[in-house]
Amino acid sequence: MSALLQRIRGIVGSAGVITAAGDLASYATDWRKRYIGLPLAVVRPASTDEVAQVVRACADSRTAIVPQGGNTGLCGAATPDASGTQIVLNLSRMNRIREVDARNNTMTAEAGCVLASLQEAAEEAGRLFPLSLAAEGSCEIGGNLSTNAGGTAVLRYGNARELVLGLEVVLPSGEVWEGLRALRKDNTGYDLKQLFIGAEGTLGVITAAVLKLFPLPKSHATAVVAVQNPEKALALLERALEGCGERLTGFELFSDSCLALVLKHFRDTAAPFPRRFPHYVLMELSDTQSGEGVRALVENVLEAALEEKNILDAAVAQNETQARAFWKLREFISEAQAHEGPNIKHDVSIPISRIADFISATDRELARAHAGVRLVTFGHLGDGNLHYNVSAPEGLAPDVFVKNTAAVNRLVHDSVARFGGSISAEHGLGQLKRDEIQRYKSPLELELMRKLKRALDPHGIMNPGKVL
Ligand SMILES: Cc1cc2nc3c(=O)[nH]c(=O)nc-3n(C[C@H](O)[C@H](O)[C@H](O)COP(=O)(O)OP(=O)(O)OC[C@H]3O[C@@H](n4cnc5c(N)ncnc54)[C@H](O)[C@@H]3O)c2cc1C
Repeated sequence: MSALLQRIRGIVGSAGVITAAGDLASYATDWRKRYIGLPLAVVRPASTDEVAQVVRACADSRTAIVPQGGNTGLCGAATPDASGTQIVLNLSRMNRIREVDARNNTMTAEAGCVLASLQEAAEEAGRLFPLSLAAEGSCEIGGNLSTNAGGTAVLRYGNARELVLGLEVVLPSGEVWEGLRALRKDNTGYDLKQLFIGAEGTLGVITAAVLKLFPLPKSHATAVVAVQNPEKALALLERALEGCGERLTGFELFSDSCLALVLKHFRDTAAPFPRRFPHYVLMELSDTQSGEGVRALVENVLEAALEEKNILDAAVAQNETQARAFWKLREFISEAQAHEGPNIKHDVSIPISRIADFISATDRELARAHAGVRLVTFGHLGDGNLHYNVSAPEGLAPDVFVKNTAAVNRLVHDSVARFGGSISAEHGLGQLKRDEIQRYKSPLELELMRKLKRALDPHGIMNPGKVL
């Protein structure tokens, strides 16, 4: 093993290799602190060539590699195992934006670029890079693509997968696939880049990507809307899509229990209405035209919904500060939950038309099987994506309650399957759902995935134990 580390030091220099136990800790644990690994070393290359040489050295010695970006993933996919034999390949030093081509509406960025920095660079060029999620200050584009991240603007712009035109990838052999095409049309055979997107680092290391840019919106309207239940939220979604078309960029749902958690753990937040309601929708509209157009649109939609008694109250942000305050209520939910102690999380998607029925059926089943559980349900309703989280009953310690994880997962995931949904909407499988997925994908589909893995990574060195 030391011969390997010596070879790697020769490639990336001593500063690019971390082996001291104290310095390894933050790379060896996931964001939720569910998985604690022990890597042989953390390697931090600064160029594609260095990545390729490191991967070749690992391939020669059959050493497992765990690619890692900002380490904000929620499925333990970037955490090494505890054997002390795996290399964490952290891409954060590869953080150069190689090109912004405003006229082609593209940006070529290295894998370690922090998502927020890409949004800023696009804005400086008068463009929008629309991928947006609460972890955007730390997560990196290589991680975003490897998890096919979703976030709050999927309704209008699609998942990470839909925002990529080309990729540069270091294959498990150490060869570099230079697929950085900046083309919107390229029908020259299999779309190889899509194999690596959402693969969670199991097929290769993404080192750079050509990303799509869009016209920069010049006006926004943000509203929080109180609704009785998810069914009413769906009625509002339908009306908003009819009335606003693709100006509707975000449509998020959260329950009052989510709001209560945020207000409890974040002092600088405030409830949007003088009284509380069962559920809330956060709506965001944007337009490339400046002026009050989108505001008028959202007000029309909300007035009609009030008349039809689909909504209970609504507040439209009067300025940017208020809009940001509304967004905090939604974006702080994950962290507020983390402060509250462990709970049983589900990141699921359901066809939008069936989502309200899914929630009421699953809530009922859970109440029957696990009396008193508290549901912390929120998510990207416009995409059919729910974070359906189950917390301990009042008076039961969260640590004790999470011993029910397997039973609760089975109930929720079986319900998801009955409603034609997916047990991972946007976070991936990682280690967390690797075994669970065996129950919900057909043997044929799983075997096709294994064949792909074997074809690209015959020695199984790329992020073993994740996804499959
Ligand atoms: C508060 C919070 C909110 C979040 N909100 C959302 C949300 O709304 N939507 C959403 O989709 N996710 C969300 N996430 C999850 C997480 O932020 C995303 O999954 C993000 O895309 C991960 O990026 P990362 O750079 O942190 O990747 P990491 O956690 O470092 O890695 C994730 C996976 O990608 C692989 N990987 C990383 N870089 C590379 C690379 N260059 N090449 C190959 N494989 C690589 C890793 O091996 C691992 O399998 C949230 C997380 C937090 C903490």
